[in-house]
Amino acid sequence: MSQAEETESVDQDGVIERVSGPVVTATDLDARMNDVVYVGDEGLMGEVIEIEGNLTTIQVYEETSGVGPGEPVQNTGEPLSVDLGPGMLDSIYDGVQRPLDVLESKMGSAFLDRGVDAPGIDLEKSWEFTPEVSEGETVEPGDVVGTVPETVTIEHKVMVPPDYEGGEVVSIEAGSFTVEETVVELSSGEEISMHQEWPVREARPAGDKMTPTDPLVTGQRIQDGLFPLAKGGTAAIPGPFGSGKTVTQQQLAKWSDADIVVYIGCGERGNEMTEVIEDFPELPDPQTGNPLMARTCLIANTSNMPVAARESCIYTGITIAEYYRDMGYDVALMADSTSRWAEAMREISSRLEEMPGEEGYPAYLAASLSEFYERAGLFQLFNGDVGSISVVGAVSPPGGDFSEPVTQNTLRIVKTFWALDADLAEKRHFPSINWNESYSLYSQQLDPWYRENVAEDYPEIRQWAVDVLDEEAELQEIVQLVGKDALPEDQQLTLEVSRYIREAWLQQDAFNDTDTYCEPEKTYRMLQAIKTFNDEAFNALDAGVPVEEIADVDAAPRLNRIGVAEEWNEFIDDIEDSLESQIRELY
Ligand code: ADP
Repeated sequence: MSQAEETESVDQDGVIERVSGPVVTATDLDARMNDVVYVGDEGLMGEVIEIEGNLTTIQVYEETSGVGPGEPVQNTGEPLSVDLGPGMLDSIYDGVQRPLDVLESKMGSAFLDRGVDAPGIDLEKSWEFTPEVSEGETVEPGDVVGTVPETVTIEHKVMVPPDYEGGEVVSIEAGSFTVEETVVELSSGEEISMHQEWPVREARPAGDKMTPTDPLVTGQRIQDGLFPLAKGGTAAIPGPFGSGKTVTQQQLAKWSDADIVVYIGCGERGNEMTEVIEDFPELPDPQTGNPLMARTCLIANTSNMPVAARESCIYTGITIAEYYRDMGYDVALMADSTSRWAEAMREISSRLEEMPGEEGYPAYLAASLSEFYERAGLFQLFNGDVGSISVVGAVSPPGGDFSEPVTQNTLRIVKTFWALDADLAEKRHFPSINWNESYSLYSQQLDPWYRENVAEDYPEIRQWAVDVLDEEAELQEIVQLVGKDALPEDQQLTLEVSRYIREAWLQQDAFNDTDTYCEPEKTYRMLQAIKTFNDEAFNALDAGVPVEEIADVDAAPRLNRIGVAEEWNEFIDDIEDSLESQIRELY
């Protein structure tokens, strides 16, 4: 949270009239909507969410026990903002951007004390600034004026803030500066430092939103192969307990070809979040060999933190994502879980005694969800560059029931749906993304990319796999009634082919060093190998070879080992040759 407002706070004090959990009502407070206020003798941070005559309602980001009527409320006159600048990567924040490590050292424990504030970025640390523009050049909002090596992986770009006028560069020099020192002076009188502030509830302006054309390559076959997400697109993962949600999210964070990862752990059970906080700093970044945290910002709100901080963490996260987008980076934002966020909204709304909508959620649930996902996108930036934010929101429907309001409203907004399935997880089929329920509306717009960058017939072979899986789903119903042997031979063969699609191609072992990442070329070639089996097998069947004999050829089960094969090119060539010769030998 920004420090600036403390100095700017004016004499607009009010008095607490009523406290109801995280919701506090004050009288005589001169405030505007969304102003940040300090509540009570301890100065707990809160935000104005309703004003009615002389009554101001505030949601408080900290535990309010012991706070009572008569205590003061002080208005900062500023909206809830984040501090933006070098140092956000490799940081772990709470929902109002207080760095957890700084808070811990201030208080000596992970259980956050109340009324403690800390700036979101280190104000004392010096950074090496290298100018990108020279004196006399004219710069406009969004233009990059210099760079700073923020981490071993990421170069931070210092930009003219979006709300500046811009002008001619009067002075700029290389050197070591803290984030608050001026690094550039403009003819307009404006001074640029490495520190920007931005109100979290307002999307940072960017140029036009464009139609995404490139996939966010995840290295996960079912995601890249069947249900791709675009760079700048939106996806949802509903994750019933134990379905592999954590592994799936970590795989995305590690392997997707995003430059920056913003991971919002929003109110999951305390121990799960502790896992994330402990795990992430240990994870290596396979793309660079550096720690993954060097390109990651973590926002962690466990469910034992107050609900209002949970409500704000989503906004804090997306604003940080937008800032890196403005530098021209591809950002992947993961929110886990948006259900907990919605529950926080529900709790605050009920304290406000608002008219409840479906299942007690506020009537504006759908609007809030869509405002959040709307901030994703591929953008033409003001400085001519291009940047993107891809948003992946996890949903945790109670009991795995997708008909509940958060899942339903999310489905209306996002264009990719990766449905994690507890049954598949139980059968140890991982990733447990259900291919019958999942979908991607980006497939068609990404086809040209796949044709150009992977293989000309990529969309066709993907469609072939989809058709086989669809047919399998229909046949399975019959099999359950009458058994596999009652099916005609060609259908039995289809089941054999679809088994390979499922077991060899859709399954992928996140814990195998080779299989954990599958480049799109390998994803394609694997499917081609299975199709080779399919084509050879059906020719043999047409020639009168019994289906058991075809299924029995030695080369077929080798399809299951392609995933873990390092020299996959040679391995696949060899399997295809063997399949061809072995099956043709049968007739
Ligand atoms: P959740 O977060 O949904 O409770 P996890 O992500 O912790 O579930 O996954 C539970 C277990 O499932 C993991 O410990 C792991 O053994 C297994 N698992 C999940 N995804 C994969 C995967 N892609 N590859 C291999 N094993 C997996």
